[in-house]
Amino acid sequence: MKTVNDFNFKDKKALIRVDFNVPLNEDYEVTDATRIEAAKPTIIKILEDGGSCVLMSHLGRPKNKEVEFSLKHIVNNASEVFGVTVKFVNDCIGAVTQDAVSTLKPGEILLLENLRYYEEETKGDRKFAEKLSKLGDIYVNDAFGAAHRAHASTAIIAKFFPKNKCFGLLLASEIENVNKVLANSQKPVTAIIGGAKVSSKITIIENILDKINHLIIGGGMAFTFVKAKGGAIGSSLVEEDKQEMALDILKMAKKKGVQVHLPSDAVVADSFSEFANTEIDGVDSIPDGWMGLDTGPNTNIQFAEVIANSKTILWNGPVGVFEMEPFAEGTISLGNAIAEATKNGAFSLVGGGDSVAAVKKFNFTEKVSYVSTGGGAMLEMLEGKTLPGIQAILD
Ligand code: AMP
Repeated sequence: MKTVNDFNFKDKKALIRVDFNVPLNEDYEVTDATRIEAAKPTIIKILEDGGSCVLMSHLGRPKNKEVEFSLKHIVNNASEVFGVTVKFVNDCIGAVTQDAVSTLKPGEILLLENLRYYEEETKGDRKFAEKLSKLGDIYVNDAFGAAHRAHASTAIIAKFFPKNKCFGLLLASEIENVNKVLANSQKPVTAIIGGAKVSSKITIIENILDKINHLIIGGGMAFTFVKAKGGAIGSSLVEEDKQEMALDILKMAKKKGVQVHLPSDAVVADSFSEFANTEIDGVDSIPDGWMGLDTGPNTNIQFAEVIANSKTILWNGPVGVFEMEPFAEGTISLGNAIAEATKNGAFSLVGGGDSVAAVKKFNFTEKVSYVSTGGGAMLEMLEGKTLPGIQAILD
């Protein structure tokens, strides 16, 4: 796997696809700079070699070059993060862009305007990719968050750099860390799959069953399993048409020697509200009109024991409606158990969707081994898919 560490960028222009798709507030201020910070190691390596950086990114989903999607809003923030005044050009192809690139000196950074101001970007247009390819000597892909897209700047462009292409340090470390779970893992391996629906996690479960020893199922999706096994789940979230599939997963897990851990009790509520009345019930004896919104105290102990005995832990999806305080305890308890196991030497990866939000909310980021920066991209990696942005560098 070639990374920026395999190149010397002295007097070279690195054309880097970054993922600066950051959230902005009404005043166009960056509210979470995590993705900008994540690109820093790659950029610093190139500048320290004596090279310059041409940064390309998308921001949101513009239709008509709307100003709210301009990357000019993030220039000050990026300058602060990188410690260099970032230059900006209000286009990403054409004469003005070429001029800005040609005057770029070693040690300088140029940020191009939003790639998605051109529909050719998301269409993966070859001519557009070729125009972009003229803007640098070496192509670097560091945009993990966009690696599952076969867009012009994430995949197609790599064809124009048959030799001079490589992974940035962020993308390389995302691949390495997911491989620590899916390829070279230390046993026992435990996957915790939570979140709302079975249907959105089924491909992940199918893909990881061969690679894990324990499967913890929590969140709303657990109730489809409980109901399929004949339990009374009141008005808990359920996907009626996925019950057969849930039973198939249990059968498949048994065949492969994977121990499945379903909740034994639940915090149940009489409405989907933080002001609801609540009680603890057995997960399969929830009264009519009540719904399970979090794992119960016995379940939390049961899950923590499994986690304490694991050497590798994958966490995807919260085990309760953690956004509401009365239903956050299960997810916090799980986070604490993972933090403790990590302290004792286990490798823990949090990735994909809402578990990252939960980890940030409850300050577990520094207490787990790795938090993935890409929601959809990480989900697709866990599903076992080949990501076009990764494949294009390997080809
Ligand atoms: P996902 O994006 O599939 O990982 O789902 C995350 C969402 O699942 C979060 O917004 C949680 O509030 C929700 N969730 C977790 N547990 C439950 C539950 N028992 N009932 C309903 N929603 C849940």
